Amino acid sequence: MTNAVNDKAVVKEYFNATGFDRWRRIYGDGEVNKVQRDIRIGHQKTIDTVIDWLKTDGNLAELSICDAGCGVGSLSIPLAQAGAKVWASDISEKMVGEAKEKAKEALGEIDNPTFSVQDLESLGGQYHTVICLDVLIHYPTEDAEKMISHLAALAQQRLILSFAPKTLCLTVLKKIGEFFPGPSKTTRAYQHREADIIKILENNGFKIQRTSMTSTRFYYSRILEAVR
Ligand code: SAM
Repeated sequence: MTNAVNDKAVVKEYFNATGFDRWRRIYGDGEVNKVQRDIRIGHQKTIDTVIDWLKTDGNLAELSICDAGCGVGSLSIPLAQAGAKVWASDISEKMVGEAKEKAKEALGEIDNPTFSVQDLESLGGQYHTVICLDVLIHYPTEDAEKMISHLAALAQQRLILSFAPKTLCLTVLKKIGEFFPGPSKTTRAYQHREADIIKILENNGFKIQRTSMTSTRFYYSRILEAVR
């Protein structure tokens, strides 16, 4: 079994079990501990930045968007609410189940976003914009290129990615380690060098248009918007 396959199986299992309970709480609005609250705030800033970029462009209602690794729908639901047509998918059926519940609460019984349980490598189709937030943390450097190139092939105009940047080094790695406590400690967290990610995007015919950085005490995420 290759590392990639092994990692993916562990990630899938994690987000269908302890990881699901943990991240559903972090991405929700109930009581959480201080570290989780800090991560919740940081993650929400990342989501808000992306929504703000897309709203500023003023054409959301014309866009088809693929949200790859959608989690509990934190991005997909507000984007659909703002008029975009959203296809949201995640490797974890538990995360997708929660996303569907949240979408029903927020939007009623409609088919936008369209949710599916899918590994992002198996996604097909063409979308104006492909977005993949905070998923690269589950990909070792050697697998990131294949993953990003696959998403790039689905994106007609734009690809938005966020990842934990490598520059912040060991302190962050240590802190990220705290996100995966208990029996799931084996789930690894990978940071990426921004220059590597940009190179991959450029090799796929994209150039960087907007960038942002979210940092709180325990959450770090570099956001890149790349366009054709
Ligand atoms: N993008 C969402 C957000 O920002 O709210 C969720 C981020 S969460 C940290 C990472 C998500 O990526 C989890 O829901 C996990 O199940 C999903 N994931 C990890 N590897 C994946 C893969 N290979 N294909 C699809 N989803 C994946």
